[in-house]
Amino acid sequence: MKIINPTTEEVIKELAISTPSDVKKAVDKAKESFESWSKLDISKRIEIIKKFQALLKKNKKDFAKLISTEMGKCVIEAEGEIDATLGDIDYFISETPKAIKDEDLDIGLDKVSAKISYEPIGVIGMITPWNFPLDTPIWKIVPGLLTGNTIIFKPSELSTLSGIRIGELLEEAGLPKNVFNVIIGEAKTGKALVESEVNMISFTGSSEVGKKVLSGSGQSLKKTVMELGGSDPFIVFKDAIIEQSVNAALFGRFLNCGQVCTAAKRIFVQKEIFDEFVSTFVDKVKKLRVGDPLDSNTEIGPIVSKEQLVNLEKQVKDAINKGAKSLCGGKRLSRKGYFYEPTVLVNIKENMTVFREEVFGPVASLIPFDSIEEAIKLANDTKYGLGASVWSQDEKVLDKVAKSIQSGMVWLNDFGTPYQQCPQGGIKESGLGRELSTYGIREFCNMKTVVKSRDKTIKQPWWFPY
Ligand code: NAD
Repeated sequence: MKIINPTTEEVIKELAISTPSDVKKAVDKAKESFESWSKLDISKRIEIIKKFQALLKKNKKDFAKLISTEMGKCVIEAEGEIDATLGDIDYFISETPKAIKDEDLDIGLDKVSAKISYEPIGVIGMITPWNFPLDTPIWKIVPGLLTGNTIIFKPSELSTLSGIRIGELLEEAGLPKNVFNVIIGEAKTGKALVESEVNMISFTGSSEVGKKVLSGSGQSLKKTVMELGGSDPFIVFKDAIIEQSVNAALFGRFLNCGQVCTAAKRIFVQKEIFDEFVSTFVDKVKKLRVGDPLDSNTEIGPIVSKEQLVNLEKQVKDAINKGAKSLCGGKRLSRKGYFYEPTVLVNIKENMTVFREEVFGPVASLIPFDSIEEAIKLANDTKYGLGASVWSQDEKVLDKVAKSIQSGMVWLNDFGTPYQQCPQGGIKESGLGRELSTYGIREFCNMKTVVKSRDKTIKQPWWFPY
């Protein structure tokens, strides 16, 4: 498998792909190591994760450079991703022991007690995308390990070197052999993992692939968590603070070169302020600094791969052919690398792919609306239901939209901040299950109900003989 630097189009490494038989071997070994790892006291597991965290901190600059070279993220954002990950690990270290503590249940009887105990599931297959090569895997790996599971991890083919680096740092931190193994490859390797004897699949990626993974996992009824694509609405009402909402929309749409699951993919602005919003927004988009992602002044790097660039070009062409107008950008840059100009489109119609599909790149679609009802209708007119961002100074408007939006998450006068205490995940074709938060940690556990009677004369009236 060739690893290509999207800035230079050069092959930076060639790697051997893990075959289905390699995957089977890795799963068998992970099953064996589960016995001892799951029985280890959580304090010992925490010690190893703390060492891993310290190593990540020590290697921050190099890791950020690796991410930037491998998938084109601006180095400044890659360093930000590492800082966010370090904070996420702090959260998992402090919250996991609480989240998996036995929970007593009140069933209203004197002589019968009941509780839930949270036990590890076994071997977990983890499959991730490339857009956050460190943080997305860590949302799975760290709680997965702390709750006592063993893991087979398949990073995206476009962020494999970062995935391998995670494995090396865990090993250096003292993680016992075969508790965590990285497998390398594309769809075929992922499919082999889904069809293997792992007990759970935790998947982050596109909805299209998510459906295949879900149906593959269903053949042996594996537990799954699915964090999938989105086409999040960003809704701005006429009383919003324009400068603030423009800045949030700019960040929301162009962060990571527009390659974020919860990006502001459809920006709806109330008619009264539409023109002012658009002109302020376009001015700022024109000032975004496009260039080498390793330069710390760069704000927009390349798209991750040629395939993704071609898909983006097709989406914009489809919009233009159906009557959209490009106010800036609209084409790839004439230089080496998979660069696309930051683009703003207006005159968007609901039959355009930029409205119907997920747009993964630096292309903003701005759409006017009349009333709160129309904003809600347009926002919900999608197969996705990941997040939403709403801007207004009117509490009633915010409450009404928050209740009516079909999504797993809504940010009111904020954009996309993944607070660790808040569950992260979507509905509709954006996913199943949650990450982060107590709920996300418990996804990696079997919720076992334990009922105990102390009644020596117990004989329930429904037992034989009637
Ligand atoms: P993708 O679906 O193409 O690939 C994701 C992973 O699945 C990769 O590791 C890939 O090799 C693997 N894969 C591909 N085919 C497979 C198969 N048949 N069986 C098993 N595994 C298979 O997605 P991508 O292009 O890497 O990432 C972008 C997508 O991820 C976007 O849709 C984005 O919205 C989504 N995403 C979602 C979240 C979230 O939290 N909801 C976060 C980040 C990214």
